Amino acid sequence: EVKAKGKNAARAFSADMRTGFLPRLELERDLRRALPNDEFVLHFQPQYSLRLGRVVGAEALIRWRHPQHGLMNPGSFMDLAEETGLMGAISAWVMEEACRQLSLWHAAGSTDLRVAVNVSPHEFSRPDLVQRVSEIVARHGLPREALEIEITENVLLQDVPGVVEKLRLLRQTGIRIAIDDFGTRYSSLNYLRSFPINTIKIDQSFIRDIEGDDSVSPIIVAIVGIARGFNLDLVAEGVENDMQRRVLARLGCDEMQGYLFARPTPAIDMDATRRWEHAAG
Ligand code: C2E
Ligand code: MG
Ligand code: MG
Ligand code: MG
Repeated sequence: EVKAKGKNAARAFSADMRTGFLPRLELERDLRRALPNDEFVLHFQPQYSLRLGRVVGAEALIRWRHPQHGLMNPGSFMDLAEETGLMGAISAWVMEEACRQLSLWHAAGSTDLRVAVNVSPHEFSRPDLVQRVSEIVARHGLPREALEIEITENVLLQDVPGVVEKLRLLRQTGIRIAIDDFGTRYSSLNYLRSFPINTIKIDQSFIRDIEGDDSVSPIIVAIVGIARGFNLDLVAEGVENDMQRRVLARLGCDEMQGYLFARPTPAIDMDATRRWEHAAG
């Protein structure tokens, strides 16, 4: 009897502990197994060009199919991946999988389609980044301008080793560069003169604030002007409703990404792409 009670108490104790520091350790343990267990999946969110009236690209966004917790978004595990040194392997998988998927779409006839892949500042600092990315793109037989690498302004600000050199090399090989979450950091616009960039993405926080034609943030107007002045492609992120789409279109923003067009979904096939074009047009 006494023995059984003790056992239960021990069990209760360990259950309480789980609400404390154990989850992180469990999560870390699970994260180490995620890659070998094939638990990661890429979702793709289309980027729609108003001018061309079709999907021109798709951003690859990682998801973790956790065996107990279900589908997890990057916000709940990418920091841990970075802290535990797992990011390198995960990033390599993302690049490989994104290019594999894109080559399938190209083979199916959508040869104009681009894919955008997020690269963290830490991953960008790896000396072999350019070589690794070029190798993957070449191995999948993709035109290099079909890949766009998304970096945040942090990469440009944090003095990542060899950042200018790497951007130049990537651009020389034809790979495209986008600045993600543009306008959200304390950045100097001066880098736009010296860094070879193709695209800026207006952060969704600015889009969210759009409440009609006469309430457009001057920041959005400024960003549209910057894109035009520097001859950069512009993508509005997080476009959720038709009012936002109309306001942005009138301002001259061509490419859009957001729930209005489609949520990120697993492996878009060309049928699905056509459905999106329908919904958007
Ligand atoms: P991000 O690159 O700025 O990606 C856009 C985020 O906004 C995505 O969140 C997307 O699902 C979400 N989103 C798209 N449209 C809408 C909309 O209309 N409304 C709202 N409210 N949200 C929208 P997600 O997938 O959770 O990714 C979050 C961040 O995690 C990404 O932000 C990116 O910085 C990072 N991330 C995602 N995948 C990867 C990856 O493979 N590698 C790295 N290094 N980072 C990644
Ligand atoms: Mg992104
Ligand atoms: Mg963004
Ligand atoms: Mg972001």
